[in-house]
Amino acid sequence: MPPDPSSGPFRAPSGTKDVLPPESAHWEKALVTFAQLAHRANYGLALTPLFEDLGLFTRGIGESTDVVGKEMYDFADKGGRRLALRPEFTASVVRAYVQHRPVAPWKVYYAGPAFRYERPQAGRYRQFYQVGIEVLGSADADLDVEVIALAWDYFRALGLNHVSVRLNSLGDASCRPAYRSGLLAYLMDRRDQLCPEHSERLEANPLRVLDCKKEPCRKASVDAPAQVDHLCDECSKHFARVRDGLDSAQVPAEPDTRLVRGLDYYTRTTFEFVAEDLDVAQNAIGGGGRYDELVQALGGPPTPAIGFSAGLERLMLARRAQGTAAEVVEGLEVFVVDVAGGDAARALTRQLRQAGFHADRAFDGRSLKSQLKSADRSGAKLALIIGPDEIEAGVVTLRSLRHAGAGQQISVGRADLIERVRKELL
Ligand code: AMP
Repeated sequence: MPPDPSSGPFRAPSGTKDVLPPESAHWEKALVTFAQLAHRANYGLALTPLFEDLGLFTRGIGESTDVVGKEMYDFADKGGRRLALRPEFTASVVRAYVQHRPVAPWKVYYAGPAFRYERPQAGRYRQFYQVGIEVLGSADADLDVEVIALAWDYFRALGLNHVSVRLNSLGDASCRPAYRSGLLAYLMDRRDQLCPEHSERLEANPLRVLDCKKEPCRKASVDAPAQVDHLCDECSKHFARVRDGLDSAQVPAEPDTRLVRGLDYYTRTTFEFVAEDLDVAQNAIGGGGRYDELVQALGGPPTPAIGFSAGLERLMLARRAQGTAAEVVEGLEVFVVDVAGGDAARALTRQLRQAGFHADRAFDGRSLKSQLKSADRSGAKLALIIGPDEIEAGVVTLRSLRHAGAGQQISVGRADLIERVRKELL
């Protein structure tokens, strides 16, 4: 019998995890780096609800996708509304665009958790974090290049050097239907060779077969027609401009005719970033594409758009695999040791923080020895000791905690303190 979940001790639910210090410092870096890059390219922060009307996702992402068909966290609230936790951000951003009609092109970025009821495994969670950008209101191929290049720059900024970029075009309303019929006819002839799931759901979405990682589907579709060979003139020109643009931006994109991605709303450009050091089940660290028909499908005016998102758990796995996670994260600089037991340590710590130092202190009036132990353990480079003698003399004792000069102490007058601390930390 499974244990009674209401009796505790409680653990984070299956498929979720706590991200705590010191590991969370790497997440902080990933978030700050993304926000800086997005800002420089004029993307503003968009904060949308964690849950939306269920219909937004079923209509926006597509009933035949795994994300909607199998993995939705949907529920009825106390008022009987059918809601779902967001499985991704694009549908919410489009909903916000249709609701508020901001001036186009509208460039936004986001960061936060998304939810999919998947089978938990390494790099695959039920609650995971995404960062991403979306641009609504322009069909310019230069934007495809801007979005893909920004993602590329982001991975580089995080120290990820073994990343490949896969690129495809899925055509648009004028060339996709004919391609889809051709692909369906091709696969119908081989239906008995497909995996059971895709054999059954073939008519609903034949493109899914191209995305299937199982051997039978792979084999049966090896010579399947590719959308890139059946693009209309406009889509073909667009794709050529994207490829040229990426070349001149020195983003090494490789064509991948099987890249259809797991969400139905994509048109034209689709792309995925793959971390070469990770297993195939979790090596997709980010991806995106154009979704020129989605705004209209969700009740807005015709509005071409493109976006990209990356998963932070996978970025962390890739950083670890590529040896960049060991990078020293900026640590504590100063630790205040309080042997005066009054206001002095509190005021001193505040003064240090206001001067911009990364500072902490001891609490609970412990012995000098015990506080110095804490100072050592804190990783700080410098301990500042303040006791009755120091207060009397108007000084503070600086004690080096660095390996080279560890244990060396000097007295510094209060007026010169900030300057001196700055110098000691150089
Ligand atoms: P998608 O919206 O499916 O294109 O996913 C975008 C990115 O989110 C992927 O490239 C992954 O990095 C990440 N991702 C998607 N699903 C999960 C999951 N279940 N657990 C962790 N990361 C995920």
